[in-house]
Amino acid sequence: MNYVWATGTHQGLVRSSNQDAVHPPQGGRSSEGLLVAVADGMGGHVAGEVASEKAMAAAVAADDAAPAERVRAANEAVLLAAVEDRRLAGMGTTLTIADLDGKGTLRIGHVGDSRAYLLRAGAMRQLTRDHSVVAEYLAAGKIRPEDVETHPARSMLTRALGMQPKIEVDLYEERLEPGDRLLLCSDGLNGMVPDDTIRDLLGDGAPEEAVWALIEAANRAGGIDNITVAVVDVTP
Ligand code: MG
Repeated sequence: MNYVWATGTHQGLVRSSNQDAVHPPQGGRSSEGLLVAVADGMGGHVAGEVASEKAMAAAVAADDAAPAERVRAANEAVLLAAVEDRRLAGMGTTLTIADLDGKGTLRIGHVGDSRAYLLRAGAMRQLTRDHSVVAEYLAAGKIRPEDVETHPARSMLTRALGMQPKIEVDLYEERLEPGDRLLLCSDGLNGMVPDDTIRDLLGDGAPEEAVWALIEAANRAGGIDNITVAVVDVTP
């Protein structure tokens, strides 16, 4: 299997810094597999940026590790950084990491409310489940789907890296097919742009074009958060 990818991140129109992180930093192509990931940091001053950067660096550096181990290594790195510098105490980050091997197996490790979606034959499916208060309310039938994006607790997470030494990691596995397109994003995209618009924009053009069309759409809708997007094409 061959992978062609592009990634992009944007501060948005409201925030004074970008606390998201993405890997790889540049687009490319590979026949031997690919590691792609999105992290969305949180914390005052520079803490959110430090959290997402530390998490990403540790997750990527964990050589040949399975996604769960990468996420655990990232969690430890965030906790350690907060111990070493008390000004960073309380910082946290989401991490959604996708390991695509040369044979077309996709393995995801996931904590938080960043997302992975799979576009196949025109239909888009969310692969990950948000660890957020509103996702739990929705699953319990306490709120309606149309209330999610405006709910006052929409950015409150139930699980994030940097909170506790022991972290529960959600794992997902999929067989990829030629023609598939994978999307990873931070909530600055899906919090601003409805899924059917994401699907339409994701389905159009090369990965690089789709990345920037999605980021532009989030900014046109208000761009209230940092926006990070990774798009991977699967080809024979
Ligand atoms: Mg965000």
